[in-house]
Amino acid sequence: MKVLRTPIVAVLGHVDHGKTTLLDRIRRSNVTAREAGGITQHIGATEIPLSAIKEICKDIWNVNVVIPGLLFIDTPGHKAFTNLRRRGGALADLAILIVDINEGFKPQTEEALMILKTFKTPFIVAANKIDKIPGWQSNEGMPFMKSYAMQDEVVRQRLDNRIYELIGELYQRGFSADRFDRIRDFTRNVAIVPISALTGEGIPELLMLLVGLAQRYLEKSLRLHVEGKARGTVLEVKEEKGLGLTFDAILYDGTLRVGDRIAIGGVEGVIVTHVRGILRPRPAKEMRLESRFKSVESVTAAAGIKVVAPDIEGVLAGSEFEVVESDEDIKAFEQRIKQEYQEIAIETDEEGVVIKTDTLGSLEALINEFRELGIPIKKADVGDITKKDVVEASANRDELNRVIIGFNVKLLPGVEEEAAKYGVRIFTDQIIYSLIDNFTQWRDEEKRLRERQK
Ligand code: GDP
Repeated sequence: MKVLRTPIVAVLGHVDHGKTTLLDRIRRSNVTAREAGGITQHIGATEIPLSAIKEICKDIWNVNVVIPGLLFIDTPGHKAFTNLRRRGGALADLAILIVDINEGFKPQTEEALMILKTFKTPFIVAANKIDKIPGWQSNEGMPFMKSYAMQDEVVRQRLDNRIYELIGELYQRGFSADRFDRIRDFTRNVAIVPISALTGEGIPELLMLLVGLAQRYLEKSLRLHVEGKARGTVLEVKEEKGLGLTFDAILYDGTLRVGDRIAIGGVEGVIVTHVRGILRPRPAKEMRLESRFKSVESVTAAAGIKVVAPDIEGVLAGSEFEVVESDEDIKAFEQRIKQEYQEIAIETDEEGVVIKTDTLGSLEALINEFRELGIPIKKADVGDITKKDVVEASANRDELNRVIIGFNVKLLPGVEEEAAKYGVRIFTDQIIYSLIDNFTQWRDEEKRLRERQK
């Protein structure tokens, strides 16, 4: 029989729109919910079992779901989202796109949306900070619809107007969205749930819609079935006192056991090691001075864990790992990792711009966006900008392509001088959206100049 695993959820959105506050609020939900099934702290993630979700949503619960709960990735933001990958896409199965209802769309909202599109991740929009709408009377932890019904007509109107603005913003970007209570088909329309991460209003609906979406998603794909072979994504490599080198990871498939041989792969190649120990955080009430962790023999997906393993220096965050039983397994894994990195390098043009980014995920998002804009790409790679990149960009016949686009990367020494010498333009930014904007503005301007000179 196939076992269903917990869907993995990520929270994305513009800075200060409330990602951290929302995660905190969910984590510290009311005591009854916590007791109803123990919200458990994983490493790098928090698990909310279905029983706790039902308790939080008890006034409105009307869905029939079989998933065991939800696992929220603790690091919010799209950087974590694009960096944390799994075979064939993003690590997260679902996402919450949080938008401050009083501010609307911002550059990083835009960027998050672009990333969700690239990875085809189903998501729900949480329109946050409704408590800041002038005249709003807060009702701690209440379902949105109930609290909404208790507001003055004029306050309700204010909220509705902001929701319409959000619907418009989403429509412009190719998404058909509506307030959740007006949606019939959640696979075609994006649901907007008004919430307050601060007062907890609307969180019952948000959680219920998430499990509903996970369930529907499950009906269509087998992605939530635990298939046996343990697979995961590395969050961070850390030295732990008394344990040596360890890595934190999210296990997204299978069961990992102490003693398992594992292969870990990244840009630098594949290393093979074995699991010396698996650690989970100790619940606060049995926390002892000597250790924040407790050792377990095995763990089943989805879960956030700490793995003690030798020879893992140099393993990068975002690397994938899986259990290998034979040399053939290792070869197959190596092949797959190599292919994944090559696929991105292959689909390039003879003449075009050079793209450099910090992670494979952001690289994919940028490539996707450039393709949509019809801009040719000569080379696309993860890493800082080098003199070699300058040489490659300068070899373009068309000046408009003698360009390097860098997202979240540095210029290595000498690159600036080299670029000036060869007439190569370098655009760098930490926001994909502004990066593309600056570049396309320059490009359009150059084109206009050319037209005039003719
Ligand atoms: P992040 O950068 O997206 O993680 O945003 P934070 O969660 O750090 O929130 C930024 C600020 O907004 C903090 O001062 C929060 O207290 C505040 N904030 C977040 N959610 C709400 C909300 O629902 N209502 C109000 N009034 N403030 C909020």
